[in-house]
Amino acid sequence: MSKEHPRIAVCPGSYDPVTNGHLDIIGRASRTFDRVVVGVVNKPMRKSKTLFTAEERKDFIEDATTDLDNIEVRIFSNLVVELAREVGATAIVKGLRAISDFEYENEMAHLNHKLDPGIESVYVFAHSSYSFLSSTGVKEMAIFNADISDLVPAPVAAALADRLGRR
Ligand code: ADP
Repeated sequence: MSKEHPRIAVCPGSYDPVTNGHLDIIGRASRTFDRVVVGVVNKPMRKSKTLFTAEERKDFIEDATTDLDNIEVRIFSNLVVELAREVGATAIVKGLRAISDFEYENEMAHLNHKLDPGIESVYVFAHSSYSFLSSTGVKEMAIFNADISDLVPAPVAAALADRLGRR
């Protein structure tokens, strides 16, 4: 791939907190593109309040991706296509789990295409081990002290237990 024109992708999300499912998509994007900018939505529209601050959510991702040298994590508060333009990305890479993701993502892909037809939305099917994994699910499990060690990175599991676990 030409280094003069690096292929850059953004992987946007709320990542509250990052799961192994997100990390699988980020890792696969990092192998497909020259550079990946993981965009952490500062104040997600879809969620009234996040459990972790944007800084905390960013730190968890940075900590879990130290082995990948083409990843940058950024907090953003504007439109995904604006973030993509800012960093020179030509693609938005997102994971698709079930049919329920499809409906929302189909709408987002069309809206983003309308906003900037030069930026392609690329969808990656979730790994079968993570196709039923969501940040909401792990938060619910953490409340009841369930074992989430194979679903999230160790520092995330510890932070969830600390913040939500019932003593
Ligand atoms: P959520 O709150 O639903 O986990 P995010 O906004 O943090 O979602 O997700 C960012 C992106 O990661 C979305 O494209 C979402 O579909 C994708 N994603 C979330 N969980 C997984 C998973 N387990 N496997 C693959 N992709 C996922």
